[in-house]
Amino acid sequence: MSGNDGRMLDRRMAIRLSAAAALVAGLFRTGTAWSETPAPDAPFATEIAPGVYAHKGHVALYNPGNEGDISNASFVVGRDSVAVIDTGGSARVGAHLHQAIRSVTQLPIRYVINTHMHPDHVFGNAAFEADQPAFVAHHKMARGLSARAERYIAVNKEAIGEEAFAGTKIVLPTLPVQETMKLDLGDREIVLEPQKTAHTDNDLIVRDSRTGTAFLGDLLFSEHVPTLDGSIVGWAAVLDTLSATPAQRVVPGHGPPSMAWPDAAKPIRHYIQILTDEIRVLLKDDRTLTDAVAVVGRSEKDAWQLFDDYHARNVSAAFAELEWE
Ligand SMILES: [Zn+2]
Repeated sequence: MSGNDGRMLDRRMAIRLSAAAALVAGLFRTGTAWSETPAPDAPFATEIAPGVYAHKGHVALYNPGNEGDISNASFVVGRDSVAVIDTGGSARVGAHLHQAIRSVTQLPIRYVINTHMHPDHVFGNAAFEADQPAFVAHHKMARGLSARAERYIAVNKEAIGEEAFAGTKIVLPTLPVQETMKLDLGDREIVLEPQKTAHTDNDLIVRDSRTGTAFLGDLLFSEHVPTLDGSIVGWAAVLDTLSATPAQRVVPGHGPPSMAWPDAAKPIRHYIQILTDEIRVLLKDDRTLTDAVAVVGRSEKDAWQLFDDYHARNVSAAFAELEWE
């Protein structure tokens, strides 16, 4: 944000703090004078660069305890408006994010950008409908999400329970991104870069030009084992191209709210390579999918959380793809 925005925000914050200190204090931490008011609980989002805020989701599957808060979500504040990048895994998580935004700015929320179709990144969209933003996503996202809508709703409602799921629904994009395009938040440019099939067939990279922050969605996992729902060969290629593109910091879809680039890509790129190499060796020997699931990538077991939940599925998906090479 510019100095002006900063002063305006500080004034607004001071007013709001005096009016509702208890309500606001727990929601936020920034690098400004606010941080002198210690938050009683962990803040929902952290200011990782000037005007850029990121929330870290739980490293977990959907469960009633986390209400679907299992992925990262971010927002960027410009001079005139706000862009949200991913909204969490339920309307309730989206509402927490909305509240966190309102604790730093009253500017209109003009854009809600989804990095891809997975429910833990899009189910909070409902909490932003009243703001009437443009819902922005890769041009293939609407098709993918529509095809899975019923299943996503049923499975995740079951996993977190009816109460935590209340208000959650599918909100499809209204602004599809076909090729690189820019959004203007007022003196602040957001660049959108749709990708070829990698984590999914609808991955969208978001960049804040002012701070050099790249929001990579699930093209980048840290801590949480990657989940493959697109193309393992495509994902490796996207990561290689991305790694050669500088960024001041990146926000992964799962993991810490801010990471150094390109170092952050190394563990996931290694995981992808191990799977690819080991499956190709087995295929050469005419071994089966069952063999592959039993042995491929076991050396990575201790490197990742949720390994037992997702790794076998990754091997199956990669095997099916590489079999046709
Ligand atoms: Zn995903």
